[in-house]
Amino acid sequence: MPVKNRFAELLPEITAWRRDFHEHPELLFDVHRTAARVAELLRAFGCDEVVEGIGRTGVVGVIKGRNTGSGRVVGLRADMDALPIREQTGVPYASKTPGKMHACGHDGHTAMLLGAAKYLCETRNFDGTTVVIFQPAEEGGGGGREMVADGMMDRWGIQEVYGMHNMPGIPVGHFAIRPGALMAAADQFEVTVTGKGGHAAKPHDCIDTTLVAAQIIVAMQSIASRNVDPLKQVVVSVCTFETDSTAHNVIPQVVKMKGTVRTMDHAVQDFVERRISELVSGVALAFGATAHVDYARGYPVTLNAAENTRYAVEVARAVSGQVDDNTAPLMGAEDFSFMLNERPGAYIFVGNGDTAMVHHPAYNFDDDVIPFGASWYAGMVEARMPAA
Ligand SMILES: [Zn+2]
Ligand SMILES: [Zn+2]
Repeated sequence: MPVKNRFAELLPEITAWRRDFHEHPELLFDVHRTAARVAELLRAFGCDEVVEGIGRTGVVGVIKGRNTGSGRVVGLRADMDALPIREQTGVPYASKTPGKMHACGHDGHTAMLLGAAKYLCETRNFDGTTVVIFQPAEEGGGGGREMVADGMMDRWGIQEVYGMHNMPGIPVGHFAIRPGALMAAADQFEVTVTGKGGHAAKPHDCIDTTLVAAQIIVAMQSIASRNVDPLKQVVVSVCTFETDSTAHNVIPQVVKMKGTVRTMDHAVQDFVERRISELVSGVALAFGATAHVDYARGYPVTLNAAENTRYAVEVARAVSGQVDDNTAPLMGAEDFSFMLNERPGAYIFVGNGDTAMVHHPAYNFDDDVIPFGASWYAGMVEARMPAA
């Protein structure tokens, strides 16, 4: 099956939506213009229901098939937010807001899912219900988590969910996916070490917090090297080190450190959280200081269900014939994981060609990706809910 001919016809229209979003980037939950435009278009296509304000600024559209007797409900998700980056692409439709830019291609994702929604509203060639999900705040705000917390999955009876992200370095029209963990869980921690400050020439009268904190950093290196199975992925990085002294002759009273933990497996994640706490309190105790850890779980691991990954691969093969079904996992993180935690589904990469990497000021979504991505979204619906 070739790329759906209808998407070739729709390409200029979908490209125009994409470039309009690109010109008007919005951050995190503050995607009011984008969300309003998405809702306006979904209503114009003839969606059976369009609801705004899910998860603060998310938009949900419902499209019923020609029949709904199967009782099946499939969710398709795109993200709408941009990044705080000053654009350097030089394209005529570049960001009109200095310091904000669609540098992750969410403009393309939103446009492709709108294209699929338009096609599905026209054709309705499926037995069941499609729920198109447009989320805010993928870039660190947890908009997906907010939409789930708002009851979206139960409200529309969503049974399975699919998401997609463009990926520079993969040829346009190629897809990449893997069953199981595709992207990492990203947690953050803050360690506060309190000792006894004082004159740097009288260390014996002090409890030196910089020495204690340094020992903690070294001890943390043993988590990846000595504690976790070498065949499992884990990253523990201490990224900031801040003392309450600016003098060269004062031993600080307090040292604060911040860092990130990346894991691919719930058991490893639980273990690392516990181990950091043990190491911090144990090392502090050994040196006569006190310390505590604030550990915050961020985006969970992106887990593709094996069966749904197979369906995603079949549809991608039908669209393009070029599918890597065992791509390497990435230690980055993805907010769609909160939806995959609620329902089985899959997340796939579609190639953006030889462009700058996402989050780079010269990155741009390639509009030639649109027919492939939109066909995959629509194809998932027709494959999972075949017309009776
Ligand atoms: Zn991003
Ligand atoms: Zn992104």
